[in-house]
Amino acid sequence: MVRKWAFNAVFAYLLFGVLMYAYLFYLADAAVPHSLKGTSVDPATFMNQREMMLSEEYSKIKNLLFFLSSPYEWLFYFLVLIFGVSRTFERWAEKTSRFHIIRSAVYLFWLSLASFIVTFPLSYLSHSVSKAYHISTQNFHSWMKDELIDFWVNFALMFIVVTVLYALMKKFKKRWWLAAWILSIPFTIFMMFLQPVVIDPLYNDFYPLKDKQLETKILDMAAKADIPAKHVYEVNMSEKTNSLNAYVTGIGSNSRIVLWDTTLKQLSDKEILFIMAHEMGHYVEKHIYFGIAGYLLLSLVGLWITAKWMEKCMGRKKELKITGISSLSSLPLFFLLTSILLFAASPLTNWVSRYEETRADRYAMEMTHDSASAVKTFQDLTRTGLSEVDPPWLVKIFRYGHPTMRERIERAETSK
Ligand SMILES: [Zn+2]
Repeated sequence: MVRKWAFNAVFAYLLFGVLMYAYLFYLADAAVPHSLKGTSVDPATFMNQREMMLSEEYSKIKNLLFFLSSPYEWLFYFLVLIFGVSRTFERWAEKTSRFHIIRSAVYLFWLSLASFIVTFPLSYLSHSVSKAYHISTQNFHSWMKDELIDFWVNFALMFIVVTVLYALMKKFKKRWWLAAWILSIPFTIFMMFLQPVVIDPLYNDFYPLKDKQLETKILDMAAKADIPAKHVYEVNMSEKTNSLNAYVTGIGSNSRIVLWDTTLKQLSDKEILFIMAHEMGHYVEKHIYFGIAGYLLLSLVGLWITAKWMEKCMGRKKELKITGISSLSSLPLFFLLTSILLFAASPLTNWVSRYEETRADRYAMEMTHDSASAVKTFQDLTRTGLSEVDPPWLVKIFRYGHPTMRERIERAETSK
C-alpha cells in the first residue's frame, strides 16, 4: 500500500513537471502580438538581441522552478507521513522530555532540518540560475548565510505557532481552528509591526536615503501626499542582486517606504520619483491594512477547511502513520493541506494584489503627470530584471502580484 501510494505520488509529480515544461517551453507563446511590434511594449524597442534572448530563457527557467517548488513540498510532506518519518521524529521527541514544549521544539527541529535538506537542491538551483544570468550577485557564502537566517527565523516562528496550535488541538477537539484563528490576529499584527525593525535588518542594512538632493525632491512629493518624511529608507542590496525594487512595509509608527540602492543607482531621478509616487499610492490608499484584513479573512476560511480536511484524513490515519490530529506526527499533514490551500488561493490573492498595484500606478500617474518617465521605468524594470512583458496565462495568474509590463506600459501611455 505504502509503496503504491509513494509510486503514484512521485509519478504524478513527474508527470506534472513534464506537462509544465511542455507548457512553458513549447505551448505558451510569450512573444508580443504582431500588432504591437515596434511599440513601446515590444522588448525589441528597449532591449538588445542578447538581453531579449536571455530574458526569454531566464523567465522560462524561473517560471518552471516556481511551478515545481510547491508540489515538491507537498510530495515531501506526503512521503514523510506515509513512510513513518514523522512518527519516528515524534518518538525521538517523546524520548527527550516529558514536557510538551520541549517535545514540540525537538520534533520541529527534525522536521525543519529534513525539509531544509530535501528542498536545498531546488533552492540552490534557483540561486545558481539567477547567478548565471547576472540577476543575483550574491556569492555562495552570503547566500548560505541568508538561507541559515531563514531556517532559524522560520524555526523560531514555527515553534511558537506549533506549540500553541497543538495545545489548542488538545483543548478544543472540534473548534481548535477558530481558537487558533482568534489568537493569530494579535500575532499577525504584532509580526507586521516588528517586520521592518526586527526581521528585515537580519538580512540587509537599512538607512535613510543617502542622496540628499533626491531626498528633498521626494520629501516635497511626500508633503503633497501628507506622508511623514521619516518614512523613506534605502537598503543595501547591490551586494546581492542587480534587480530593482521598492516597497512599503510595516504598520503604525514602524511603517516605511523602502528603496533598494540598485534602483537609486540605475534609474534617473524622474524614474525614481515615479516609483516613489507609486509607493506613496500604496501608503495613501492603506493597502497594507487591507492586506492584513484580507489575510485574516483568508486564514479563517483556510483554517476551517484544513480542520475539516484533517478530520477526513483521519479515516486513513493508519496509512498516514498519524496517532491523531492533536499529536505532533500530524504536523506534516497540516503543512501539506495549508500549502495546497495557499497555492490554490494564490490566483485570488494575486488578483487582489494586481488590482492594488494598478491603483498605485494610477495614483503615481496622477501625481507626476509624467507618462514618458513611467513608460521608461517599466521598460528599465523589465530589462534589468530580465522579465517578460507579456507572460503566459498560467504564469500571470499564479505568479504575478503586479500587472504585466504590457498592461502597465499600455495604461501609462493612455493616461497621458
Ligand atoms: Zn506596488
